[in-house]
Amino acid sequence: MKFKIVSKGDKQSNEIKSRIKQYLTDFDLEYDKEEPDLVISVGGDGTFLEAFHRYVHRLDCTAFIGVHTGHLGFYADWVPDEVEKLVIDIAKTPFQVVEYPLLEVIIRPESGTGEDRFLALNETAIKTAEGSVVFDVEIKGEHFETFRGDGLCVSTPSGSTAYNKALGGGIIHPSLEAIQLTEMASINNRVFRTIGSPLILPKHHTCLLNPKVNGSFLIAIDHFTQNYTNVKSIQCRVAEEKIRFARYRPFPFWNRVRDSFVSEEDMKV
Ligand code: NAD
Repeated sequence: MKFKIVSKGDKQSNEIKSRIKQYLTDFDLEYDKEEPDLVISVGGDGTFLEAFHRYVHRLDCTAFIGVHTGHLGFYADWVPDEVEKLVIDIAKTPFQVVEYPLLEVIIRPESGTGEDRFLALNETAIKTAEGSVVFDVEIKGEHFETFRGDGLCVSTPSGSTAYNKALGGGIIHPSLEAIQLTEMASINNRVFRTIGSPLILPKHHTCLLNPKVNGSFLIAIDHFTQNYTNVKSIQCRVAEEKIRFARYRPFPFWNRVRDSFVSEEDMKV
């Protein structure tokens, strides 16, 4: 099996990366930056997102696993003290694969050709530095509402505990193939009206955001934000591709939610 390690870059993460690399090569596993079967992220959720995007072009043949060096991670469940156990598991045991849905985002230009296609593990967040955004929101080919406000967020089930949660969105179990649309401070009065609740869309229900006012948009795909002008539409739907997690032991989603947001143990840290 070929592996690659992506480190957060701090002293502790780099030291853990070196140890894992040494142990696994001692077990005759091959370090391969180009075509790894397994990508090990060492750091936090941000590091995991970076690892995902670095290998997003080979999701069908690369699985991901995370060691967290900061506080509890959503995508990284192994702690530094367990590195020896993890290495032995990787070297000796075939991993189970757990798949989570992803979000497909296609940004089409108003004029000219070409479009940008992205896959997000957490979400896309669309805002502007120029006041409010105004979008016609279309769902499954039908006009749904005109949104005016700070922005919109479309998230995956595993991203539902991230930005989506801060926007009042619901937490969705990643076994459900769905995306969630949440509002950022919509303007609601007698003139402008939006649904005001998060919307959960199943697979094949495409959500199209058509800007009503031409301007520039800050479009974030997970941890990475780009500035766009000349936007005709932003299309969001559940992607055909999925992320594959390498599992050597259970990592139940609801335990993760509890331990991150409710557990008193964690609040003491
Ligand atoms: P960051 O350093 O600003 O970290 C944001 C926090 O989000 C970290 O604590 C991270 O652990 C947590 N996080 C990331 N993915 C998560 C998930 N799936 N479930 C629960 N928590 C999660 O930025 P970063 O580390 O580069 O992460 C980028 C992410 O930050 C974005 O994808 C977005 O979801 C999140 N974000 C959150 C808010 C907010 O909550 N108000 C605002 C902007 C971005």
